[in-house]
Amino acid sequence: MTPPAGLARPLPPPRADLGLRQGYHSPQVPVEVRLNTNESPYPPPPEWLEALVAQARNIAFNRYPDRAARGLREALGQWHGVPPEQVFAANGSNEVLQSVCLAYGGAGRKAAMFEPTYALHAHIAHLTGTGLVQGQRRPDFTLDVTAATELLEQEDPAVVFLCSPNNPTGLAEDASTVSSIVAATAGLVVVDEAYGQFASWSALELVAEGVPLAVVRTYSKTWSMAGLRLGYLIGPSEVVKALERVALPYHLDALKQAAGRLALGFSAQMEHRVASVVAERDRLVAALSRMPVQVWPSQANFVLWRPRQRRGQEVWQGLVARSVLVRDTSSWPGLQGCLRTTVGTREENDRFLSALAEVLA
Ligand code: PMP
Repeated sequence: MTPPAGLARPLPPPRADLGLRQGYHSPQVPVEVRLNTNESPYPPPPEWLEALVAQARNIAFNRYPDRAARGLREALGQWHGVPPEQVFAANGSNEVLQSVCLAYGGAGRKAAMFEPTYALHAHIAHLTGTGLVQGQRRPDFTLDVTAATELLEQEDPAVVFLCSPNNPTGLAEDASTVSSIVAATAGLVVVDEAYGQFASWSALELVAEGVPLAVVRTYSKTWSMAGLRLGYLIGPSEVVKALERVALPYHLDALKQAAGRLALGFSAQMEHRVASVVAERDRLVAALSRMPVQVWPSQANFVLWRPRQRRGQEVWQGLVARSVLVRDTSSWPGLQGCLRTTVGTREENDRFLSALAEVLA
């Protein structure tokens, strides 16, 4: 369209520091087997969708939704054995993390994380004007608690992010590590458990009123609902109140609130899906261990591995040429040469393994 006379001029520049950080987005290549974004390979149960459609008929769409999302938070609270006052929900766990940074970070405050870890922790902290304290994991990706403690004492961050199981390494923290980190900082410790249900231990058991610890979960992985954009936090009610102060009014739409609540009624199906993913993950790790690659143990729905004799990028290309897409993490700091494969269905994993055998041959 031709601009109205006299109005066109150079547009104002956005903030100069908005450049996307490495590891933020995953290139989408048209392939038959997509194992790059840690989604569930299975759809949610059809009965859930039917229940949701029935619910949708009762929603007054001309009205704003329940601003406090009471029904959803009560259901989630019951599911986790905590009162609704200890539950904060948002549009995906990414929005929960953003709310944490808005409420506890910001100018003059810092957020700490231990790299390599989920790239969005640093990205969101940066976007919210929160200073970054980036500690390093050991070369085997475990957390050096003594070094971490020293760093936290020195830097005094307002927020400390842990990711367990950690994306993209797949390693989970244990009770003693999380407790030591909580003891080592005056800040709020946030354990991102986006993959929590695939792991054998959860930091949820340490969450209590008066303990500066919160756990973040999502419907995107175990619940097979990445398209729904729903995540939540379980923590002290004081933390939930602070997050509510930064959330936009009515940020959770009525349909999503119903969808999230209804999903909890299908937990047996969810557990069944999680068990298949875990079994397939262990099969993938075992198969990779017999190949010329280094593979890390995983407690999540993905596996990190590194070809021993070939460049990661080259192997990634070889897989794409065979219509298999994995995540190319080979140029991320600390992950030189590594690739990350999301656990798919048995057939998808077989496709991946045979394509990889060909590429490495
Ligand atoms: N945390 C971690 C560790 C993740 O890997 C992801 C998804 N890639 C998220 C949070 C974001 O999940 P959601 O879809 O709930 O925003």
